[in-house]
Amino acid sequence: MANTLQGKVALITGASSGIGAASALSLAAEGAHVAVVARRGERLQDLVRQIQKNGGQALPIVADVADEQEVAEMVKHVKNTLGRIDILVNNAGVMLLGQIDGANTEDWRRMVAINVMGLMYTTHAVLPIMKEQNRGHIVNISSVAGRVARAGSGVYNVTKWGVVAFSEALRQESYKNNIRVTVIEPGAVATELTDHITDEAAKQKQGEWLQGLTPLESEDIAAAIVYAVTQPERVNVNEILIRPTGQD
Ligand code: NDP
Repeated sequence: MANTLQGKVALITGASSGIGAASALSLAAEGAHVAVVARRGERLQDLVRQIQKNGGQALPIVADVADEQEVAEMVKHVKNTLGRIDILVNNAGVMLLGQIDGANTEDWRRMVAINVMGLMYTTHAVLPIMKEQNRGHIVNISSVAGRVARAGSGVYNVTKWGVVAFSEALRQESYKNNIRVTVIEPGAVATELTDHITDEAAKQKQGEWLQGLTPLESEDIAAAIVYAVTQPERVNVNEILIRPTGQD
């Protein structure tokens, strides 16, 4: 256990797998008390056991970030239980790839509800707490897809582009309250993200594309998050774009 984040509370959404779970483990290893949020409670319980085994502290909370009321209650619970929120990692997301023409528009609604509205609801609920503390750090997980649009990922691009824009506006509104904002834009990371694609042709195409490269590991993104949040207070790492070496 390191102690760079000793005494700090970090709230991580989408912590039941992939990047969120790895980030929770890494932030807890730095001494933060982590509040881990997702819909799959059993996966969160497993994660909490692992963090505790490593000597860390974690609070599991089952919540759907697409539900504003659940988000408000979840944030209130973290504040009431752990006393403060120093770091928010807005990570929960889905990538339901597919062509625009003929798309199942339910996929669009899910992506916008989770990747955009969920991130905004969580930020909205946490901001007053950070403002009262006169300090905080919000880390938003966008994607290379927030920088480069491609055929077959139009609406995912919409959501991740939105995260980049929201993050910059948020930074400008928040820096006077000593609230730092970092946007992280990963390329391909080996996680469960592609398992949820509903369009079979898009899923197959993505699988073939992934086979042509060695993807990043979730721990690589967790390391970028730890880097950003452990800088001295005067340093605001605004953006980290991180691709696998073999990604085009
Ligand atoms: P995973 O599918 O492994 O993780 C997604 C996480 O989001 C899960 O913990 C899931 O938990 C959670 N989640 C999904 N919907 C909701 C919801 N409505 N409420 C609460 N939690 C939710 O994928 P990744 O780790 O790869 O994805 C994490 C983030 O990284 C996403 O924002 C993704 O867009 C982004 N990203 C991923 C890349 C990659 O190549 N893997 C590349 C660039 C960005 P549960 O289902 O239990 O609710």
